[in-house]
Amino acid sequence: MSLNALPPVAKSFFAFCKKCDADRYHVVLAHTSSTSAKIKCEICGSQKTYSLPKAQTRTGKPLTGAAKAKREQTLSARKSSHRNEYDMLMSNEGAQTVTYNMKNKFEKNQKLQHPKFGLGFIKDAASDKIEVVFEDEVRTLVHNR
Ligand SMILES: [Zn+2]
Repeated sequence: MSLNALPPVAKSFFAFCKKCDADRYHVVLAHTSSTSAKIKCEICGSQKTYSLPKAQTRTGKPLTGAAKAKREQTLSARKSSHRNEYDMLMSNEGAQTVTYNMKNKFEKNQKLQHPKFGLGFIKDAASDKIEVVFEDEVRTLVHNR
């Protein structure tokens, strides 16, 4: 049960009682602020302060932060999996290392030295394009011009 406003003084409402360890009717003794009230369990007589749930009065902001953190986490996971692929390809000792020049024709499974992007690995090659895994990302380059 969730309330949007405090129940009036002297009225009973259902709330969780820690002492009874169960949901009990509680009598409202007094309002201590606009969002909290002093209440008393009708069963065991224990008194406590009841506060309106904060999430009900303040929506949006905490969720936005959490969603953002989650997105950053996903991005960093994707980055690290790319990094693993790059390291794995680079550990391929048998691959020939070639220097990039768009006029030359390159083959799949060669290491490619690029003047701007650094060392990459040719994952796929078509007649006019090669797909190269560089340290930061996968790029499509032209060749065989
Ligand atoms: Zn109780």
